[in-house]
Amino acid sequence: MSARILDGAALAGQIRSELSSRAADFTRKAGRQPGLSIVLVGDKPDSQIYVNSKLKSAGDEGMRATLSHLPASASLDEILSLVHRLNRDPASDGILVQAPLPDSLGPVAMQQVFDAIDPSKDVDGVTPANVGRLVQNRAALIACTPAGIVELLKRSSIDIAGKHAVVIGRSDIVGKPISMLLLHRHATVTICHSRTQELSKVAATADILVAALGRPGFVRRPFVKAGATVIDVGINLVTDAAVAYDIFHEGHPRRGLFDRKGSVLVGDVHPEVADVAGALTPVPGGVGPLTIAMLMANTITAAEHRVGR
Ligand code: NDP
Repeated sequence: MSARILDGAALAGQIRSELSSRAADFTRKAGRQPGLSIVLVGDKPDSQIYVNSKLKSAGDEGMRATLSHLPASASLDEILSLVHRLNRDPASDGILVQAPLPDSLGPVAMQQVFDAIDPSKDVDGVTPANVGRLVQNRAALIACTPAGIVELLKRSSIDIAGKHAVVIGRSDIVGKPISMLLLHRHATVTICHSRTQELSKVAATADILVAALGRPGFVRRPFVKAGATVIDVGINLVTDAAVAYDIFHEGHPRRGLFDRKGSVLVGDVHPEVADVAGALTPVPGGVGPLTIAMLMANTITAAEHRVGR
């Protein structure tokens, strides 16, 4: 058996063309484009890549995206006063502070910054108000990756109600919110983490398995029930040849890519899982493009709500 590949890039393309017309509609009625404000602190290369693709996508969809780039030496007060200024800016409908902040700011700085964002502009779904609303199943702005996963399941006609969903990972940004969204859609949800006993046995009971741990190729064949839907959230840059060769067999095109570039992007799910799963998201081209599409959707939703208020 070979899993059906859930093409997140193609679905994201469809969603984005729907969003372009919503953005154009908003612009016509409001006399201005929906505005997305991105805050980047420091020069972490992968953060810069993520931010650039968000800025480009917003521009492509007819939104006005601005970047406020602070140096890695910026203080917490400077970041907070920037967020407060964006909260007051009438042209800014959505605020996204790119995680992580520099380590020098300490372990609680990220949450302090998230706490400062006006919940009506919280397009990343990270404020306590929006997390609380998510738990109560009345959220307007939901964390983008979990929202993208649910959209992908919906548009791929994969039933959630009554299924057993196992989520590996309990982070605030992926594991917990996707568990809530699946629960609200009437799945029976099991959340696993680094202390879970007999993880592969638990995972193998899932009809829908979400892997969000940040461990390249960790989920292997024994973790997966035949015919299960497997959602691979992981994005791991592998630079170690032994790891890359363990994941991609000789002749695999992505092994060839590693040999040419010295690095390759790998999900949390081993490619051998395609032999047993019923449906599988690829990495890249699965959950990632939907995450960006949902950020755009949240920005337009926030703009529409603000103008409608
Ligand atoms: P975190 O590091 O915040 O959380 C990882 C979670 O996985 C933790 O709950 C941890 O458990 C659990 N975990 C780690 N190792 C194991 C293990 N061996 N067995 C069981 N559980 C384990 O990661 P994120 O949630 O932020 O991200 C997860 C992955 O998703 C990363 O690869 C990230 O790059 C990717 N990602 C992709 C996005 C996309 O758009 N596609 C968006 C966001 C993230 P514990 O709590 O016990 O420590």
